[in-house]
Amino acid sequence: MKITAVDTCVLTIPTRHQMALQFPHHKFVVAEVSTDAGVRGMGYSQVFNGGGAEAVHAYLETRLKPALLGEDPTYVERLWEKMFRVDMGIKKQGVAAYALSAADIALWDLVAKAAKLPLHKLWGAHTDVVPCYGSGGWGKYTEKDLIAEAERYAAQGVKYYKMKIHDPDLKGNRKRVEAVHRALGGKMRMMVDVNQRLDVLTTLRQAALLEEFDLVWYEEPVLADDFSALQQVAEKIKIPIATGENNFTRWEFRDLIERRGATFLMPDVCRANGYSETMRIGRLAAAHQLQVSPHVAHEISLPVVGALANGFLVEYMDWHPDDLFEETPQCRDGAFRIGDRPGHGIAITREALRRYRTT
Ligand SMILES: [Mg+2]
Repeated sequence: MKITAVDTCVLTIPTRHQMALQFPHHKFVVAEVSTDAGVRGMGYSQVFNGGGAEAVHAYLETRLKPALLGEDPTYVERLWEKMFRVDMGIKKQGVAAYALSAADIALWDLVAKAAKLPLHKLWGAHTDVVPCYGSGGWGKYTEKDLIAEAERYAAQGVKYYKMKIHDPDLKGNRKRVEAVHRALGGKMRMMVDVNQRLDVLTTLRQAALLEEFDLVWYEEPVLADDFSALQQVAEKIKIPIATGENNFTRWEFRDLIERRGATFLMPDVCRANGYSETMRIGRLAAAHQLQVSPHVAHEISLPVVGALANGFLVEYMDWHPDDLFEETPQCRDGAFRIGDRPGHGIAITREALRRYRTT
């Protein structure tokens, strides 16, 4: 089997619900890989709020596509190495990592379709039922918005709710968390997300104000680049740390693990150099008693958690328009069931490819 075409584009997809208060749209950088055997694979990188998506697309189109054309797509490991090393002067972090991720996701989708297996089974499945946490809780929400969103997830049987703590007033954040916690009355456990906004001293003061709420985790407590700061936080904080959505390779995760920086690792399949590298990170985490909870893009993260014994939760963020995917995975009783559809199970509708295409 040979790769005969790699078609790429950028989709600008409007958000819905209250998320539009914060982000009017997200962008997908899409790669569709075709072969002489007629089998195709589709991958995408979800660029939150869209920033830099055109640069991701340019790198994919000009550097990774030529590396794939004419190759046998079943040699995913070799092709990952080829793409990773195509420009040794450009680290596969940020823009280049998003581009490689889209291509790698497409290759795995293709290989699983050729094998007529859902991807988690191609990898040796652990489970078909993947629990999730409800995510959102944006800074621009009112307390009423937060509670309404948490209740919507609770109505789908979801057992966990994550909200942002973005108020510069630390006590203001505590007040919002307390309001949601009280409204939920124990039916959901909560997580909070700092999104890298605080320094070591301030994040420790913030965490101390939240100890009584039995939080599952405290996320991205400091700048993701600063492992030394993360280690300082981890040594003193009483709440388990989750981090990793802005870390890109097995080597970054190894360094994070060696510093005992987190209890929950959150690689993003669209950022961390695709499924290939995310699965390597997942195995590395297993060797250190750490759980993996992939960052956003829950629909294409299901195979990862379905294949890892140390997979924990996917991040369910209910923002997709109804016409985006052929079959949108549905949450029931707080979990997604992985079906028998070969590949990663997600297809973008032809209509959405026309309607949302901007590049
Ligand atoms: Mg986060």
